Amino acid sequence: MHRQRQKRGRKVFSMGGTFLSSRSPHHKERIGHYRPHKTSLKVSGIEFPISPKQISLFEEQNPEISINLYAVDPVTEDLAFTIEYLSPHKDRQHHVNLLLLEEPEIGKSHYTWIRDMSRLIAHRTNRNGKTYVCNHCLHPFTTKQAHDNRLSYCQSHPAQQVKYPDADDSVLKFKSVQKQHPVPFYLVCDFESFLTPSNTVDDEEDDVDTSSGRIRTIDEYKVSGFCCYRVTSYPQYQTPSKVYSGADDVMEVFYLHVLNEMNIINWIVADNVEMLPFTAEQKAEFEAATICGNCEKPFTDDSHKVRHHCHISGEFLFPCCNNCNLQLKRIARS
Ligand SMILES: [Zn+2]
Ligand SMILES: [Zn+2]
Repeated sequence: MHRQRQKRGRKVFSMGGTFLSSRSPHHKERIGHYRPHKTSLKVSGIEFPISPKQISLFEEQNPEISINLYAVDPVTEDLAFTIEYLSPHKDRQHHVNLLLLEEPEIGKSHYTWIRDMSRLIAHRTNRNGKTYVCNHCLHPFTTKQAHDNRLSYCQSHPAQQVKYPDADDSVLKFKSVQKQHPVPFYLVCDFESFLTPSNTVDDEEDDVDTSSGRIRTIDEYKVSGFCCYRVTSYPQYQTPSKVYSGADDVMEVFYLHVLNEMNIINWIVADNVEMLPFTAEQKAEFEAATICGNCEKPFTDDSHKVRHHCHISGEFLFPCCNNCNLQLKRIARS
């Protein structure tokens, strides 16, 4: 079939013929089988050779056909496929999966009919038998049941493909070591509310509006009060909890309180108290240390040993490398 595509007019068969071959049970190579169908495909406004972008136009004119187009992923070294076009039309009489084969050296590309998706991606699974391949994500399921169960979820998302990382890039590691130290301040908040009938509800109607299938609001939570507590390990900055109840202004009072807390805490953490003198114990600990108390890497000329201290209380915390010490400085947010 591909050998016959020198002439412009015959390009229709590059896709049409591929499609028709999927309907012809025997001797698919014989062009004579396709002649009766030649005029049955509508191709008005479609330019040949037909580009992947025009598949949707082809589908529009041929409402009994849906087409998905896959291509060989040029980026990955292992044989992998990308989804170039996923038909939005479900349950059409004829569905065809096509593979776009490109030959960049000679600037040519052609479509071939994927007769069996399971065989196309057989190299991706250790399973010897047939698999049930999802057209949307190209995942091979071992049973039809598993494939069918998953299909509605896959169909509700755009085409996607599962890609696993390389073996040497497959371990997740916690890198933000400076974030494992306790924060000096945080707020704990709790709200009280009443469940009150929504104003928009007509008592006569059901909870569910069956005509539109949408769920209507019957009741809504109305905030009646809150408690906000500042948590800190610095006793000099511990304040009593703020408790408030009111009618309509609860959220406004809450936001004002939180903004005020933010300003006060920023002011506290922006402070830069000098380190208190070493105790004998702290001095010995500092001198004996060979690794950073934060990143646990040995000290070097580039990341030399420094004293990490609390800029709020002045207390010595642990020996630390210079790089980590800079990262551990609290940044006051304006
Ligand atoms: Zn899927
Ligand atoms: Zn370090």
